[in-house]
Amino acid sequence: MAAILRRPIVLFGPSGSGKSTLIKKLFAEFPNDFGFSVSHTTRSPREGEVDGVAYNFVKREEFLRMIENQEFIEHAQFSGNHYGSSIKAVEVVQKTGRTCILDIEIEGVKQVKKSNLNARFVFVSPPSIEILKQRLVGRNTETDDSLKKRLDAAIGEMEYGNSPGSHDIKIVNDDIDNAYKTLKEFIFES
Ligand code: ADP
Ligand code: 5GP
Repeated sequence: MAAILRRPIVLFGPSGSGKSTLIKKLFAEFPNDFGFSVSHTTRSPREGEVDGVAYNFVKREEFLRMIENQEFIEHAQFSGNHYGSSIKAVEVVQKTGRTCILDIEIEGVKQVKKSNLNARFVFVSPPSIEILKQRLVGRNTETDDSLKKRLDAAIGEMEYGNSPGSHDIKIVNDDIDNAYKTLKEFIFES
């Protein structure tokens, strides 16, 4: 494997910016080259989300126990729930020799930067907050309350993502095919 591909890749950006969509495309095209760091979360599964695949869905008590046991590389609260990347989740991928992909929010990004993961950072930006809102509504996964929390959080995530040094590449997800092409170029060619 090229040296650059040994480094984990972190995608971050507001909820609804298209991180999962881009990651799904990458796994569909290169099923043997990439592995997903399956995070732990206390949020409830959405329709179609399989435990152990999209996330490890756990109760709050279990999540707090894992924090206590120092099982996380990073963890944070987002929209009223806990999320975290366990050391094990990344190790499982790295043992297969695949490039590890993480999809995390910005407090996690800041912690990963202080860790020894040596990751590369991709900021996935929506074309605008208005379009972000339309896409989140269109995804049909949020209540009015969780939609509001995600849009509120998006302001800070955009600010961080647009600040110097936060990312190795910013991808504006306007057209999905263009965004995916840019992601691939970054992953394989930079
Ligand atoms: P995230 O993982 O960042 O929360 P998703 O990948 O779930 O975001 O995308 C949010 C919604 O927007 C999904 O319904 C997805 O199908 C849609 N979407 C993603 N990218 C685009 C795009 N370029 N144009 C239109 N809709 C998109
Ligand atoms: P969702 O509930 O939409 O799946 O994810 C909400 C937010 O949590 C997204 O910004 C996603 O990137 C982030 N997230 C998912 N897993 C983790 C994780 O393990 N750690 C952190 N810090 N954020 C995560």
